Amino acid sequence: MTKRVAFAQLSSCWGCDQSLVDLHFSLLEVLPQLEILYWPAVVDFKLKDLEGLPDKSVHVGFVEGSCRTENDLHLLKVMREKSKLLVAWGSCSCFGGVQGLGNQWTLSQLTDTKFFKPETVVNPRLPTENVPAFLDKVAPNPQHVPFDIILPGCPPSSKNTFDAVTALLTGAPFDLPQKTVCDQCTRTREEKRIKKFRRTHEGKIDPKKCILDQGYLCLGFATIGFCGAQCPAANAPCKGCFGPPPGVKDHGAKIISALGGIVEMEPEELRAAFPDPIGSFYFVDYAASYLSRITSKEDSKK
Ligand code: SF4
Ligand code: SF4
Ligand code: SF4
Repeated sequence: MTKRVAFAQLSSCWGCDQSLVDLHFSLLEVLPQLEILYWPAVVDFKLKDLEGLPDKSVHVGFVEGSCRTENDLHLLKVMREKSKLLVAWGSCSCFGGVQGLGNQWTLSQLTDTKFFKPETVVNPRLPTENVPAFLDKVAPNPQHVPFDIILPGCPPSSKNTFDAVTALLTGAPFDLPQKTVCDQCTRTREEKRIKKFRRTHEGKIDPKKCILDQGYLCLGFATIGFCGAQCPAANAPCKGCFGPPPGVKDHGAKIISALGGIVEMEPEELRAAFPDPIGSFYFVDYAASYLSRITSKEDSKK
């Protein structure tokens, strides 16, 4: 029996969809088993096509991106109504994603920066025609509606998506691993004592030794091991794009507490090493963090 599926795109970069398309010929193995009811990124569907479906008539709905606009939120709610199983597909959907970093500022600060302050903008004004209203903040989609499966990654690898789709088609269980990227990494490690952090353009990363041991911020120790440690394998530090392993409630807090145990630097030196600590420690999941919920730059000025 074919499975009726829908793919919805909220505010996002389309990278998760691209990751699925990157399956190339492997996609041909699963496509005959799928009846695609909605996938506007690839096929010319309109929102009314999705809205017109009976409730729970979609076997599996995939949601990419997070809610930055009221239209996003409407689409998310329609996907929940129409889908038996709803998958948060990618770190934007699971945690708010890169656009969640905007929660550091108020909506008026963000729109000022985008529409009024750039020197290249002529006749600055807030566009009102054919533009959906913005939401005040970005929240992880599971805070808006219940989800059945979380599939993080920025983007999830093509293999992750293929495995998830296959499991959903066959009814096999699909659980996130408990391990970290470090557990998947083959580099040799020493007892860590970090006296200085370096940016990736400073010096050359030794391809055999732990990148963090060499003073480059590699977040594999606090990041779910789901990608096969693909960045360290390519001689690049892990940026934490898959978010934390199950059970870790706040990714950045986990990173900061772990670094506190291994770094031998003065607070001022650390501050200078990370001029954008939120961007460094919460690359994809600031909207899901405790910090995002308790403060904003505007609040902290009061
Ligand atoms: S999770 Fe990453 S790849 Fe997927 S839509 Fe968001 S930003 Fe793009
Ligand atoms: S910190 Fe990075 S380089 Fe070091 S073991 Fe973990 S993933 Fe590998
Ligand atoms: S190694 Fe880290 S940054 Fe690279 S894909 Fe995996 S989780 Fe993302």
